[in-house]
Amino acid sequence: MKFESKYSVTVNRIKSNIIRELLKTATAEGIISFGGGIPDPETFPVEKLSKIANDVIMNEYKVALQYGSTEGDPELIKQYIRLLKKYEDIHCLNEENIMITTGSQQALFILGTVFLDEDSYCAVSKPIYLGAGSAFNQRNPNYISIPLEKDGMNLDILESELKKLEKEGKIDKFKFVYTVSNFHNPAGITLSLEKRKKLIELAEKYDFIIIEDDPYGALRFEGEKLPSIFKLNEGKRVILLNTFSKVLSPGLRIGVIIANEELIRKMVLAKQGMDLCSSTLTQRIAARFMEKHDLFEEIQPTIKLYKEKKDKFMEALDKYLGDIEDIEWIHPEGGLFSWIILPEGFDTMEMFEIAKEKKIIYIPGETFYVEEPERNTMRVSFCLPSFEELEEGTKRLRETIEEYAKKKGINLKIK
Ligand code: PMP
Repeated sequence: MKFESKYSVTVNRIKSNIIRELLKTATAEGIISFGGGIPDPETFPVEKLSKIANDVIMNEYKVALQYGSTEGDPELIKQYIRLLKKYEDIHCLNEENIMITTGSQQALFILGTVFLDEDSYCAVSKPIYLGAGSAFNQRNPNYISIPLEKDGMNLDILESELKKLEKEGKIDKFKFVYTVSNFHNPAGITLSLEKRKKLIELAEKYDFIIIEDDPYGALRFEGEKLPSIFKLNEGKRVILLNTFSKVLSPGLRIGVIIANEELIRKMVLAKQGMDLCSSTLTQRIAARFMEKHDLFEEIQPTIKLYKEKKDKFMEALDKYLGDIEDIEWIHPEGGLFSWIILPEGFDTMEMFEIAKEKKIIYIPGETFYVEEPERNTMRVSFCLPSFEELEEGTKRLRETIEEYAKKKGINLKIK
């Protein structure tokens, strides 16, 4: 049978996830990978989780092996409200403000379903988290891509775009701004306090929702912790997304949406048709884990390790790339990523072939754009390579850059 004529417009629009394709090649012997934005498996609390998992299955199987409510396990919701009070100073929540999802990725998909039609507009950062692009693309909305500066989105550009929509009589089609507030994926950037406040002012003036996606906030290793946009706005027009993926384990597939109760009710309707409920088993395991252990205390050694790796990586970047003119990289205060911007003329996707020969992997920046990409960029994660590999990998990155420049006739300017 020929299947082509049967496919939906939506599925034909989906491009394969380049990161997943590239990472398939990352397993060969001797490869140093700056590619994966995934936690080091050695940091998972295996013993504690296995004991709790065993107890949950033996003693709570009537709940933990059964279907659960779409909203999520009440025990987990209770624990999460407690955590938000303790660590985020958010006190205005009850059970109706929370929905548990199958990872934050599902939360993004649900939000696309709840807010976006083909004639809708939403603003996203440039570059954008690839998974958010994939989730929103399914609704085929109009994007307004806002460049990132060192302290987050350029809000002057956002405002001028909003004014334009207002003039054209389309502002009621503008639904939300999507932002990764801390240690952005892919760019490593944090939205400053001033910009958080300004974004709320704009949201009030132009009547839009803010989606604050924050998987990395708990992984701050230096600098001052900032209040969430949700906290600053007391949740009035902000939807906060959290996940267990980077603080406990991505395999549990647990995300948390925190929002106004009316919005949560709509999201529950959207989720019902997707999976009825998220895994009751992993939710109950996470709930009992949080009851027995302090989630954020448990990850302190991991954060310490990430900081040491970040410092080592920044040192190596200074050593091996610091003398090249017009090259920049982000110094993250937390999370897993830095972002390198090479001089004009570089195409990091094309350069990837040389990188593979040199046995290093990075993620070409062009994967992180919903519109015209900036091809001279790359995402580099420092959490998985060892200290020696961070040094050696950065040295090989220098060689890769030099070889590519030579091949393309780019004059690398040395300071
Ligand atoms: N948002 C951002 C910004 C992310 O980086 C990720 C994971 N890479 C997600 C959402 C999805 O996370 P998960 O589905 O594992 O919770």
